[in-house]
Amino acid sequence: MATLAVHNEFNVYESADARFEAAARKLGLEEGLYRFLKYPNKEITVYIPVILDNGHLEVFIGHRVHHSIVRGPGKGGIRFAPTVTLDEVRALASWMTWKCAVVNIPFGGAKGGVVCDPGKLSHGELERITRRYTAELIEWFGPERDVPAPDLGTNEQTMAWIMDTYSMHVRHTETAVVTGKPIDLGGSRGRHEATGRGVLINCDRALAKFRMLRVNTRVVVQGFGNVGSMAAKLLHEAGYKIVGVADVHGALYNESGFDIPKLMDWVYGQRKPLPDFPDGGAKMSASEVLFQPAEVVIPAAVENQITSENAHRLQARILCEGANGPCTALADEIVDRKGIFVIPDILANAGGVTVSYFEWVQDRQGFFWSEREVNDRLKDVIEHSFEEVVRYAETHQVNTRVAAYMLAIDRVAFALKERGIYA
Ligand code: NAD
Repeated sequence: MATLAVHNEFNVYESADARFEAAARKLGLEEGLYRFLKYPNKEITVYIPVILDNGHLEVFIGHRVHHSIVRGPGKGGIRFAPTVTLDEVRALASWMTWKCAVVNIPFGGAKGGVVCDPGKLSHGELERITRRYTAELIEWFGPERDVPAPDLGTNEQTMAWIMDTYSMHVRHTETAVVTGKPIDLGGSRGRHEATGRGVLINCDRALAKFRMLRVNTRVVVQGFGNVGSMAAKLLHEAGYKIVGVADVHGALYNESGFDIPKLMDWVYGQRKPLPDFPDGGAKMSASEVLFQPAEVVIPAAVENQITSENAHRLQARILCEGANGPCTALADEIVDRKGIFVIPDILANAGGVTVSYFEWVQDRQGFFWSEREVNDRLKDVIEHSFEEVVRYAETHQVNTRVAAYMLAIDRVAFALKERGIYA
């Protein structure tokens, strides 16, 4: 593999760009298309004035980036976190373009973020930030233009506020402007579990490929939010043994496996810290748990967890990237050399955007599907995409990450060529 052009390993935009470049080169993408797809379509920074509960006026910084609208409206989550940067949002927006293309749904790629710490803000403060951020971006959002969804630090409530604010401005209720809404406001059945379910479907396909059995498969899940807790729950129900769990407070590892419903009740019902779970086995840092013995490791928290410094310590056979960008680009080569089978983020966590697409379709039809219909259609999409990526990797003699990027770039470039350049 050629050396990747990365100066700062922890800049996710550089990681995203390095992977795009490696795949585009392998694909033989012509120079003009390369430049077109490398850079975002447009990006905006907004300053969000909000009166805090204590009466002070604070100004928060928000971003929204459209990486590509070649295959359809921009699609991508909104992140509320103190660490949000424009570079991070750019990287996440480009990953959305490739993710939607890998699973072949008619969306482009977008992403947004607000620099704030949701854990330190009241319900009312979060509502005011969300509504003003939405108002600033009213011309950007829209069912045909840009459709946000939840991400780190945002949830169904955030989407309800965005939908309501947008609807107030356009003077009619427009449910299809966001996905990941509460079900009674036009949300889809199965959306809450969708990213975790996509992780399960991908893991099942990988097990089938290597003739492994669920009962003999130990799993570590890092992150116990929407993606991590749902993946752990569904994998546990399916018969996998979840031996490692982690959230921002720390991790637990137990060879005999965790009772995930009990752990969910501990964390979400009783609101107790994950590392204090009784009979939880060995306590360790959230990073350390990734390197414990397990057949499957699922980083489902934040970026840059597996790096050029620690990748050699991975013991897993399968790395399923529930989070976006949990591996740095410089770690890729080490993971590859170790022979670990990678289900790259743009495929592994694509269950969320797939059911977001189903939600958008249902909202526009005003006709809602049963949970079984949603889950069956999701299974079809993810299984088909998994097989396409594996086949592409075999045909082009590349690893699955490069294959997923190549497949995605190829699809977007094809659409771009068919549309032609409006100049
Ligand atoms: P979330 O906010 O619901 O949960 C995040 C979890 O990670 C929490 O349990 C938190 O405690 C933990 N965490 C935070 N920092 C950590 C650290 N340094 N070490 C260990 N754990 C840490 O977020 P989410 O929606 O589950 O998103 C997780 C990841 O999945 C993000 O990369 C996100 O972009 C990606 N993703 C989410 C969705 C979705 O549908 N929610 C879809 C695709 C990808």
